[in-house]
Amino acid sequence: MPNQSKSPMKRKAKMYIAGLAGLGLIVLVSIYNCTSSESRQANGQKCFFCDFAHRRQGPPPVLEVETAEYVIFKDKYPAAKHHYLAIPKEHFDSLKALNKSHVGLVRRMEQGMMEFLRSKDVDPKEAIVGFHLPPFISVRHLHLHGIYPPADMSFGNRISFMPSFWFKKSNDAILDLEGRDL
Ligand SMILES: [Zn+2]
Ligand SMILES: [Zn+2]
Repeated sequence: MPNQSKSPMKRKAKMYIAGLAGLGLIVLVSIYNCTSSESRQANGQKCFFCDFAHRRQGPPPVLEVETAEYVIFKDKYPAAKHHYLAIPKEHFDSLKALNKSHVGLVRRMEQGMMEFLRSKDVDPKEAIVGFHLPPFISVRHLHLHGIYPPADMSFGNRISFMPSFWFKKSNDAILDLEGRDL
């Protein structure tokens, strides 16, 4: 009996410390990303995701899916066995650059990602599908993550991809866009 009251306290303290460490890591990473991506994307033309989407420069990643609007490819730094990115062919910095008129595009990207995951024998409901929010974005070109299985993920990645003010699940992103003005 005494053990029961003791261990949850310990676990809470541990989670708190771990959470703080994770937050520190995210802040550091985002500061690094902000400073390092500035020169690359300052003129809007040196966006390598735009190059990927339009097959402009090599060596591009293999495009697993290509439609008139978006492409899907494997993340260069996979957080789990399956980790893909869906990016629109048109350049948008992030979710912040979108409004109500982009709901259709984001829905189709989400559906494309779900369908692609299913083709890999992954149940999309079990996958993590969502967007990072600025300033916590690694590349300044809108990209939808699809990750499975969550159990593969490192502690840092679990924090980085958990629903929060730095990561939005795709259905929450769509709800948010529906409420925005044009
Ligand atoms: Zn771009
Ligand atoms: Zn991201």
